[in-house]
Amino acid sequence: MDESVLKIILEENTGPEHVAVLEQLTEPKHDEQIASELGVKSTIIRKLLNDLHGTSLVSYKRTKDKSTGWYSYVWEKRDDKITEYGQIKLDESLSKLKIRLEYERQNLFVCSCDTSVTMTQAMDLNFICPRCNERLRSLDNSNRIRELGDKIARIEKIIEQV
Ligand SMILES: [Zn+2]
Repeated sequence: MDESVLKIILEENTGPEHVAVLEQLTEPKHDEQIASELGVKSTIIRKLLNDLHGTSLVSYKRTKDKSTGWYSYVWEKRDDKITEYGQIKLDESLSKLKIRLEYERQNLFVCSCDTSVTMTQAMDLNFICPRCNERLRSLDNSNRIRELGDKIARIEKIIEQV
Protein backbone atom coordinates (compact mmCIF):
# COMPACT_ATOMS: atom_id res chain seq x y z
CA MET A 1 0.00 0.00 0.00
CA ASP A 2 1.13 3.52 -0.77
CA GLU A 3 3.08 4.97 2.20
CA SER A 4 1.19 8.27 2.23
CA VAL A 5 -2.20 6.53 2.12
CA LEU A 6 -1.15 4.21 4.92
CA LYS A 7 -0.01 7.20 6.98
CA ILE A 8 -3.38 8.91 6.61
CA ILE A 9 -5.21 5.74 7.63
CA LEU A 10 -2.97 5.31 10.68
CA GLU A 11 -3.36 8.94 11.70
CA GLU A 12 -7.12 8.72 11.48
CA ASN A 13 -7.37 5.47 13.41
CA THR A 14 -4.57 5.65 15.95
CA GLY A 15 -3.51 9.31 16.14
CA PRO A 16 -0.74 11.58 14.83
CA GLU A 17 1.35 11.01 17.99
CA HIS A 18 1.29 7.26 17.41
CA VAL A 19 2.36 7.77 13.81
CA ALA A 20 5.24 9.99 14.97
CA VAL A 21 6.44 7.14 17.20
CA LEU A 22 6.14 4.60 14.39
CA GLU A 23 8.15 6.88 12.13
CA GLN A 24 11.01 6.87 14.65
CA LEU A 25 11.09 3.08 14.58
CA THR A 26 13.17 2.82 11.43
CA GLU A 27 15.15 0.31 13.47
CA PRO A 28 14.50 -1.34 16.87
CA LYS A 29 14.86 1.25 19.62
CA HIS A 30 14.53 1.72 23.37
CA ASP A 31 11.58 3.84 24.47
CA GLU A 32 14.00 6.35 26.08
CA GLN A 33 15.70 6.80 22.72
CA ILE A 34 12.41 7.56 20.95
CA ALA A 35 11.52 9.94 23.78
CA SER A 36 14.72 11.94 23.39
CA GLU A 37 14.43 11.98 19.59
CA LEU A 38 10.92 13.38 19.77
CA GLY A 39 11.57 15.55 22.82
CA VAL A 40 8.69 13.90 24.66
CA LYS A 41 8.64 12.33 28.14
CA SER A 42 9.39 8.59 28.26
CA THR A 43 6.16 7.94 30.14
CA ILE A 44 4.17 9.37 27.23
CA ILE A 45 6.17 7.40 24.68
CA ARG A 46 5.61 4.22 26.67
CA LYS A 47 1.87 4.86 26.70
CA LEU A 48 1.85 5.40 22.93
CA LEU A 49 3.92 2.25 22.43
CA ASN A 50 1.52 0.27 24.62
CA ASP A 51 -1.40 1.51 22.52
CA LEU A 52 0.41 0.45 19.36
CA HIS A 53 1.21 -2.88 20.97
CA GLY A 54 -2.49 -3.31 21.73
CA THR A 55 -3.19 -3.33 18.00
CA SER A 56 -0.04 -5.42 17.31
CA LEU A 57 1.60 -2.65 15.29
CA VAL A 58 4.77 -2.91 17.37
CA SER A 59 6.46 -5.66 19.33
CA TYR A 60 9.11 -5.53 22.02
CA LYS A 61 11.95 -7.52 23.45
CA ARG A 62 12.55 -7.28 27.17
CA THR A 63 16.03 -7.61 28.55
CA LYS A 64 17.19 -7.54 32.14
CA ASP A 65 20.21 -5.53 33.13
CA LYS A 66 22.27 -7.95 35.20
CA SER A 67 23.89 -5.29 37.39
CA THR A 68 20.81 -3.14 38.15
CA GLY A 69 18.20 -5.86 37.81
CA TRP A 70 16.05 -3.46 35.77
CA TYR A 71 14.23 -4.39 32.65
CA SER A 72 14.61 -2.48 29.45
CA TYR A 73 12.48 -2.71 26.35
CA VAL A 74 13.52 -2.59 22.73
CA TRP A 75 10.64 -1.80 20.42
CA GLU A 76 10.22 -2.83 16.85
CA LYS A 77 7.75 -1.78 14.17
CA ARG A 78 5.75 -4.62 12.59
CA ASP A 79 5.40 -3.65 8.96
CA ASP A 80 3.34 -6.73 8.07
CA LYS A 81 0.79 -5.89 10.78
CA ILE A 82 0.75 -2.22 9.81
CA THR A 83 -0.14 -3.07 6.21
CA GLU A 84 -2.78 -5.53 7.39
CA TYR A 85 -4.21 -2.89 9.74
CA GLY A 86 -4.41 -0.41 6.87
CA GLN A 87 -6.28 -2.93 4.74
CA ILE A 88 -8.74 -3.77 7.51
CA LYS A 89 -9.47 -0.10 8.15
CA LEU A 90 -9.97 0.53 4.43
CA ASP A 91 -12.37 -2.40 4.18
CA GLU A 92 -14.25 -1.08 7.19
CA SER A 93 -14.66 2.41 5.77
CA LEU A 94 -15.64 0.95 2.41
CA SER A 95 -18.48 -1.10 3.87
CA LYS A 96 -19.65 1.85 6.00
CA LEU A 97 -19.71 4.08 2.91
CA LYS A 98 -21.59 1.43 0.93
CA ILE A 99 -24.25 1.13 3.61
CA ARG A 100 -24.53 4.92 3.69
CA LEU A 101 -24.82 5.07 -0.09
CA GLU A 102 -27.52 2.43 -0.13
CA TYR A 103 -29.43 4.48 2.42
CA GLU A 104 -28.98 7.75 0.55
CA ARG A 105 -30.12 6.12 -2.67
CA GLN A 106 -33.55 5.47 -1.26
CA ASN A 107 -35.85 8.42 -1.71
CA LEU A 108 -35.35 10.28 1.51
CA PHE A 109 -37.73 12.64 3.22
CA VAL A 110 -36.50 15.22 5.68
CA CYS A 111 -37.72 17.82 8.12
CA SER A 112 -36.20 21.09 9.28
CA CYS A 113 -35.60 19.42 12.67
CA ASP A 114 -32.97 17.14 11.03
CA THR A 115 -35.21 14.09 10.99
CA SER A 116 -34.63 11.96 7.92
CA VAL A 117 -36.69 8.93 6.85
CA THR A 118 -36.99 6.70 3.82
CA MET A 119 -39.92 6.97 1.43
CA THR A 120 -41.57 3.86 2.90
CA GLN A 121 -41.28 5.30 6.39
CA ALA A 122 -42.57 8.66 5.19
CA MET A 123 -45.64 6.98 3.70
CA ASP A 124 -46.32 5.20 6.98
CA LEU A 125 -46.07 8.56 8.71
CA ASN A 126 -48.40 10.23 6.20
CA PHE A 127 -45.50 12.54 5.44
CA ILE A 128 -45.69 14.12 8.89
CA CYS A 129 -42.54 14.42 10.97
CA PRO A 130 -42.81 12.13 14.03
CA ARG A 131 -40.75 14.53 16.10
CA CYS A 132 -42.31 17.91 15.42
CA ASN A 133 -45.41 17.24 13.31
CA GLU A 134 -44.23 19.32 10.41
CA ARG A 135 -44.66 18.19 6.85
CA LEU A 136 -41.77 16.06 5.54
CA ARG A 137 -40.26 17.13 2.24
CA SER A 138 -38.43 15.14 -0.37
CA LEU A 139 -34.65 15.50 -0.22
CA ASP A 140 -32.48 16.09 -3.25
CA ASN A 141 -29.35 14.26 -2.20
CA SER A 142 -27.89 13.68 -5.65
CA ASN A 143 -24.71 15.59 -4.73
CA ARG A 144 -24.27 13.53 -1.61
CA ILE A 145 -24.77 10.33 -3.61
CA ARG A 146 -22.18 11.45 -6.15
CA GLU A 147 -19.69 12.29 -3.37
CA LEU A 148 -20.18 8.92 -1.72
CA GLY A 149 -19.78 7.18 -5.06
CA ASP A 150 -16.51 9.04 -5.67
CA LYS A 151 -15.19 8.15 -2.22
CA ILE A 152 -16.07 4.49 -2.71
CA ALA A 153 -14.36 4.46 -6.11
CA ARG A 154 -11.21 6.01 -4.60
CA ILE A 155 -11.03 3.46 -1.81
CA GLU A 156 -11.71 0.56 -4.17
CA LYS A 157 -8.85 1.75 -6.35
CA ILE A 158 -6.48 1.84 -3.35
CA ILE A 159 -7.58 -1.67 -2.32
CA GLU A 160 -6.96 -2.96 -5.85
CA GLN A 161 -3.42 -1.60 -5.84
CA VAL A 162 -2.50 -3.44 -2.64
ZN1 LIG B 1 -39.45 17.50 12.39
